[in-house]
Amino acid sequence: MASEAARHIVEAVPLVDHHVHSVLRDVSDRETLERFLTESGQPAAPGHSYFDSFLGAALLRTCAPILDLPPAAGPDDYLSRRKELGGEEANRRLLRAAGVSELLVDHGFRGDDLVDVAELAELAGTRVRRIARLEQVAEAVANDGTDASGFAAAFAERLAAELSGPDAAVGCKSVLAYRHGLDVDPAEPGPAEVREAAGEWLNEARRSGELRVSHPVLLRHLVWTGLRAGVPLQFHTGYGDPDLELNRSDPALLTGLIRRAAPLGTPIMLLHCYPYHRQAAYLSGVYPHVYFDVGLAINYVGYRAPAVLAEALESAPFHKMLYSSDAFGLAELHLMGAVAFREALAAALDPLRAREQRSAHEVSRAASMIGADNARRVYKLPA
Ligand SMILES: [Zn+2]
Repeated sequence: MASEAARHIVEAVPLVDHHVHSVLRDVSDRETLERFLTESGQPAAPGHSYFDSFLGAALLRTCAPILDLPPAAGPDDYLSRRKELGGEEANRRLLRAAGVSELLVDHGFRGDDLVDVAELAELAGTRVRRIARLEQVAEAVANDGTDASGFAAAFAERLAAELSGPDAAVGCKSVLAYRHGLDVDPAEPGPAEVREAAGEWLNEARRSGELRVSHPVLLRHLVWTGLRAGVPLQFHTGYGDPDLELNRSDPALLTGLIRRAAPLGTPIMLLHCYPYHRQAAYLSGVYPHVYFDVGLAINYVGYRAPAVLAEALESAPFHKMLYSSDAFGLAELHLMGAVAFREALAAALDPLRAREQRSAHEVSRAASMIGADNARRVYKLPA
């Protein structure tokens, strides 16, 4: 439990959410609301509800007062009040209550279902920047019609376009963990290998009508092209939906790649990491170009968020951890992520003051690094 002093210090710290998604325009029914309270993609067992969890309880406690209800409100009352206010007003209230100063948005997953980036910025009253998803860029290139020998150049060109201009993405993201597993050969594939793999992929896509890239050689090629682009490269690791095999999403599996990529100096951002957050903390501590967050775990572990954040900070230097909510679909998750993170950070940093006798200024400096400054420095975000 954080002391009043630590809570006060962390409350004043700005947050940059370096991995987050957009929100649904509206939530029409309870089933839709509950679908975003689980990574399972499935409804709860008959007669049961995902509100019967610490995540569900935290949603009501945190969000009901923002919609003028008591924190003890039930799910049905919450939903009917949300509908009464309308999606736009509910989104605006919840997003603004989060008090996050900047959002780095991955709009690549189910982007068509969600409000676009400009609208999200208006609703949240904050600056929003884009992250380019490597696999999606590759699929767009294939969709435009390329052949095996033209793929590598077309992909590089398209990625460079994503990373330039006034609307430039400030980082790239890889979902290697979902498409294959992090246990790939870490070596950069050569041009002939890439050409052959692109041919296999495009032939298969023509046959099946499915463009989803999962060829391990191509996935490695996308990662290495991303590393060479120089902007921070995010990797999904750890906790996620059932498309991944959890044991193959342990960030320690990236050690070979991290070592080989070191000479490039490109920041490698390990997202989520839980339940492997101690592995990620270790990697961030020993490799200068590695950073991490505990992302969506903060929401999914409910009232245990302070314990998880404390474990993540056991060995990590303060300049290597970032804030992310990984909120997806629900403005509620944006707010809950920010509230839970601030609470957890205050508790995790409290021993710095109470036990280690550091000044309030030093505690504030550590909180600022983790909350916003590390993201601003690594992604080169203008102040
Ligand atoms: Zn995400």
